[in-house]
Amino acid sequence: HAEFVSSVSHEMKTPLASIKAYVELLADGDAEDEATRDEFLNVINGQAERLRRLIDNLLNIARIEAGVVQVAKEEQSLNDVLEEAFQVVQPAAEQKSIQFVSEFSPLFLGVLIDRDMILQAAINLLSNAVKYTPDAGSVTIRSRTSDDCVVFEVEDTGVGLAPEDAQRVFDKFYRVKKDQSMAPGTGLGLPLAKHIVEDVHGGTLSVESAEGSGSTFRVSIPTTKRT
Ligand code: ADP
Repeated sequence: HAEFVSSVSHEMKTPLASIKAYVELLADGDAEDEATRDEFLNVINGQAERLRRLIDNLLNIARIEAGVVQVAKEEQSLNDVLEEAFQVVQPAAEQKSIQFVSEFSPLFLGVLIDRDMILQAAINLLSNAVKYTPDAGSVTIRSRTSDDCVVFEVEDTGVGLAPEDAQRVFDKFYRVKKDQSMAPGTGLGLPLAKHIVEDVHGGTLSVESAEGSGSTFRVSIPTTKRT
C-alpha cells in the first residue's frame, strides 16, 4: 500500500512540476513571441490532460476495488459488447491506417457479465493494441467458445513485449520505457482490465507476445451453468 501511494504521488508530481515550470516561464515573460507562448500553453494543456487521465483511472480502480461500484451482472451477448468496443476504438485505428478486423464467433456467446465493465476491459485491450502498433500494422479481435468459457482475444502486429515485461504489464503504473513515446498512458489500463476480468468475473486475462512482432491479449470468462 505504501509503495502504491508513493508511485501515485510520483506519477502526479511529474506533470504538476512541468505545469508549474511552464506557468513560471509564461509569468516571467520568457515566451517572447506568440508561437512560443502557444507551445508553452500546449505543454501545460497536455500535462493537465495527463493528470486528468491519471485521476480518472485511479478513481475507476479505487471504486471497483472498494466495491463501491455495484457490479450488475446480466446475461449478455459477448459479441454485442465486443462490437461496441470495436466501434469505439475504430477511429483511432483509422488515424494510424491500422487494418482493424473483427472475427466474431457466428454463435451466440451468452455470458453473465457486467456489460459496462467488460466493455471497458475490451476497450482498454483494443486501444492498447492500436497504441503500441506502428502505422499500417494490423489489429484483430476474435471471439469463440471453449469448454466452459467464452474467449476473446486481441492480436496485434505491434512492438510486442520482452518476457520480463510481459509479466509486469499488469502491475499498476508499469509502462515499458522504450515504448512510452508511442502514446500517452498511465500504466493503469491493464491492471484495471485484469481486475475486471479476474476478480469481478472469475476469468483470466493473459498475454502471449514476441518482442518486435506483436502481442495477443486473451480473456477467458466462465459461462454460467444453468441448473
Ligand atoms: P498505458 O497504456 O496507459 O501505459 P496499460 O496498463 O494499458 O497502460 O499498459 C501498460 C504497458 O504495457 C504499456 O505502457 C505498454 O508498455 C505495454 N503494453 C500494453 N499493451 C501492449 C500491446 N498491445 N503491445 C505492446 N505493449 C503493450
